[in-house]
Amino acid sequence: MWPRHRNENFMNSQDNCIFCKIVAGQIPSRKVYEDDDMMAFHDIHPKAPVHFLLIPKSHVDSLAECGPAEGEVLARMMLRVPELARVAGCGNGFRTVINTGPDGGQEVYHLHLHVLGGPRNQWKVPLP
Ligand code: 5GP
Ligand code: ZN
Repeated sequence: MWPRHRNENFMNSQDNCIFCKIVAGQIPSRKVYEDDDMMAFHDIHPKAPVHFLLIPKSHVDSLAECGPAEGEVLARMMLRVPELARVAGCGNGFRTVINTGPDGGQEVYHLHLHVLGGPRNQWKVPLP
């Protein structure tokens, strides 16, 4: 879907994907949640008091590359978010963000859902 962007950025290719390496335990992360299909971990540069990423374990570049095969895991991820957010301390609400493609501001080409929360006056700009 975004061939020019992908080919220009070696670290974003599927074979050398930073989030696949986190799933494999080859790169350390502060894990929030894990099951057979998905994993959540704290963002390395948090933009809010609570800021974690939820990803499918199986690599897919972005939301724009998802099809029926990803439908089940996407649904399971969305339904898992409120519980993870609440446990992480977002008792007063949270924001979910999925950046897609170059104009969407996506930097890591392994689909991920940002969850941000905590007191609004402590959020940083620009938000993801
Ligand atoms: P995007 O801009 O693609 O939606 O968001 C990518 C996010 O991944 C950014 O918020 C960035 O801080 C985070 N990130 C990038 N590399 C790493 C990493 O190695 N570990 C963790 N935990 N987060 C990362
Ligand atoms: Zn990946």
